[in-house]
Parts: sequence; C-alpha cells; structure tokens
Amino acid sequence: MAEECIFCRIARGQLPAEVVYQDEQVVAFKDIRPVAPVHILIIPRKHIPDLTAITPADKELLGHIHLVAVQIARELGLAERGFRLVNNCKEEGGQVVYHLHFHLLGGRQLRILG
Ligand code: 5GP
Ligand code: ZN
Repeated sequence: MAEECIFCRIARGQLPAEVVYQDEQVVAFKDIRPVAPVHILIIPRKHIPDLTAITPADKELLGHIHLVAVQIARELGLAERGFRLVNNCKEEGGQVVYHLHFHLLGGRQLRILG
C-alpha cells in the first residue's frame, strides 16, 4: 500500500471515483478521461506498481481481474459486441499511473493499436 498512490487512495475510498464493481481483491471505476463510451479501470486493491512486478503469488488475482472484466463487459452489453482489455506497462507502454490497472474499453469500433 502506498500512502500517496492515487489508485490506492481510490481503493481505500479516500478519493472519489465512480465505482462500478468492487470486492475484497479488486475495484473497478470509470476513467476520469474516457476515450471510449465505456472506459473502466480495473485495479487490484494491493499496490503493484506495474505488470513487471507481478509474482507467481498473483496468479489467482490476475485471473480474477479477467473474470471481473468479462462480468462487467457482459453487464454493459459488450460481451457480444466485443471490447478491449489493455495494460500499459512503464514508460514506452504509455503508463502514467504506477498502480497496476487494466483499461476496459468498448462501446465503439476501436482502432488497431500502435
Ligand atoms: P495509464 O496511462 O497509466 O495506463 O492510465 C492511467 C489512467 O488513469 C488514464 O486513463 C487517466 O485518465 C486515469 N486517471 C488518472 N487519474 C485518475 C483519477 O484520479 N480518477 C480516475 N477515475 N481516473 C484517473
Ligand atoms: Zn497504489
């Protein structure tokens, strides 16, 4: 847990966010600057700085994040249409917030990455 990490603070309820799902392991909330009609961030409550910091002990957590992503996508009617689940890792990956998060994007035709 990082005192000053904004996503840790959101997970602890110390910063406001439009939370769409939460349980003991993860929190999902709307991105403050959405780039698609659906733009949700799914984060572990545990502070993991970026994807390279995961360990074998996080296997279940990462599987759970994917199951939560599919559940949210289904609830929003995206399971049939399709969607994108993205992790930006470190500087060249475009990561800005250094608390592991996955972007759930959908609701419009998304372009090829790059
Ligand atoms: P990254 O580039 O690190 O993968 O993405 C960080 C994302 O977090 C960005 O899409 C940005 O809009 C979002 N974000 C940054 N600060 C906040 C915040 O305080 N609240 C919410 N809901 N989203 C945030
Ligand atoms: Zn954090």
